[in-house]
Amino acid sequence: MNQPKNLSKIISLLHKQTKEFVLPIATKIGSEDRSPFKVLISCILSLRTKDTTTGPATERLFKVAKTPTQMLKLSDKRIEKIIYPVSFFRNKTKFIKGACRKILKDFNGKVPKTMEELLTIPGIGRKCGGLTLIYGYNITKSIPVDTHLHRGSNRLGWVKTKMPEKTEQELMKIIPKKHWHDLNNLLVAHGQNICVPVSPFCSKCKINKYCPKIGVKRRR
Ligand code: SF4
Repeated sequence: MNQPKNLSKIISLLHKQTKEFVLPIATKIGSEDRSPFKVLISCILSLRTKDTTTGPATERLFKVAKTPTQMLKLSDKRIEKIIYPVSFFRNKTKFIKGACRKILKDFNGKVPKTMEELLTIPGIGRKCGGLTLIYGYNITKSIPVDTHLHRGSNRLGWVKTKMPEKTEQELMKIIPKKHWHDLNNLLVAHGQNICVPVSPFCSKCKINKYCPKIGVKRRR
């Protein structure tokens, strides 16, 4: 399959546009700490929660526990209180503890370095697995697709998919590997600030002239 038209130009414009925005949480944590465990936990916390809430909650949690062993010493109630107000904070507490137990039991206390192993950890899907590998370990073997990357690549006409899992498969066929590392970061930052779900800011979008705006009904 052919790569999307004007891809390099679009990537370069996205770099320019997103420079002024706050980094998505996984990228931020990855670039500051290079801690796969922290990226993984922040990813669990980020489900259906804005980065502005996830970031501070991750920092609060890591102030009291930096390793799976330390995390398991905290009671559920304590973790719930620390991570609140992230959404589903009770369930996420269970996932965090389950992930820590699994990492200690099966991986000698170290976050594993392969997608297959990461997927055996409770609460970890391909998106969190990919983010942990890329931004925690600098291993790029997949394109982690979240709601922003899924929406953006459909609007751009790069893919025509209904589910993020399918989007990942299709993108991996058409996007050259050299762009995989940055793609999540760029389209998440862009999706959080410009290509927002309802009524995107097309008039401010630097890739406007390259975008067919597929499925966009209202725009600003
Ligand atoms: S032109 Fe509009 S729909 Fe296309 S990427 Fe930009 S904001 Fe999104």
